[in-house]
Amino acid sequence: SLKTGIVGLPNVGKSTLFNALTENAAAQTANFPFCTIEPNVGIVAVPDERLKVLSQISSSENIIPAFVEIVDIAGLVKGASEGQGLGNKFLSNIRECDAIIHTVRCFDDDEVIHVDGRVNPVEDVATINFELALSDLLQVERRIDRLKKGKAKSPTEKAQEAAELEVLERVSLSLESGIPVRVLKLCEDESVLLSTLNLLTQKPCIYAANVCESDLRTKGSGNIYVENLLDLANSEGSAVCIVSAKIESELVQMELEEREFFLEELGVKEVGLPALVRAVYKQLKLQTYFTTGEKETRAWTTKIGATAPQAAGVIHTDFERGFIKAETVSYQDYVVSEGFAKAKEKGLWRLEGKEYVVKEGDIMVFKFNV
Ligand code: GDP
Repeated sequence: SLKTGIVGLPNVGKSTLFNALTENAAAQTANFPFCTIEPNVGIVAVPDERLKVLSQISSSENIIPAFVEIVDIAGLVKGASEGQGLGNKFLSNIRECDAIIHTVRCFDDDEVIHVDGRVNPVEDVATINFELALSDLLQVERRIDRLKKGKAKSPTEKAQEAAELEVLERVSLSLESGIPVRVLKLCEDESVLLSTLNLLTQKPCIYAANVCESDLRTKGSGNIYVENLLDLANSEGSAVCIVSAKIESELVQMELEEREFFLEELGVKEVGLPALVRAVYKQLKLQTYFTTGEKETRAWTTKIGATAPQAAGVIHTDFERGFIKAETVSYQDYVVSEGFAKAKEKGLWRLEGKEYVVKEGDIMVFKFNV
């Protein structure tokens, strides 16, 4: 499943946020296989209202949401990239993630000590990104050294190596100044050349701005910390998600009814997980399609732009290999028609082939050869 890592300076609210998100998921999804693999790893269901609607139409026995794995990567401090033991372990934890949730302190509270003695999101982010960039730099330099030894024989191989070297030199220059690779906005081909290195600062990043209660309603507008963070995120094409770790941790202690009242008081519809997960999906350019029937209604995740066979492959590789056709109805049409049968009568049902590009919310039934 999709893997995200929560990073940030010490004392910015990472663990509070992680605990709240995972406890919340456990509480709200009692029927789903939720588990904490390790104390710092949680698997949370992707909240999606549409699942319930579809399961009612199909009288499904089960609902199976999409899942996201969240890892609380504590201990990333100045000097981590030089660290032999723990520092390295944290960095390799991040290397395994698909996206980074970079938690940033955007609240004032004299009771909570800031490691550098002052709240300054831009500098905080720079401190963490610098460590990640240094770790990347080591990887990149190692690769450059290897390429310079020039093992390639055929002209094609040589050309390929030259192209890779050209990108690596550029990347290395920027990493030396602590600039994340994603800031370079490399083209697709260039990104592919780097993909085996699994660079930390090339990963999609969502900044979770940890704000105080009153900033939730206004989404942080007027909060100078958040505004500075937004500027920074925009400049590198990253997302910002406004959260309050403290509020999250209070919410998980409440019964459903009390929660709704509390949220109303706060003047917000939802907090935390849904928005964060949406931000991750958007940043990773992911979308959801559904399968639904008496047995189960289930959400599946694909890249935006995936073809029908590729989407089928998410369920099983055999589905992709043997793909023939996909019965497809959009979510809206499916709900309005209350199922495939009426959608078909109304002409809202489509039989899509190999070239079909799956759309957000499609309901699909795959026909395939085994
Ligand atoms: P971590 O080191 O980044 O994992 O930070 P923790 O989650 O352990 O939080 C550090 C301290 O900050 C704890 O005392 C928390 O209670 C406090 N804290 C976390 N989030 C918030 C918040 O949103 N507002 C305030 N005022 N305090 C917070």
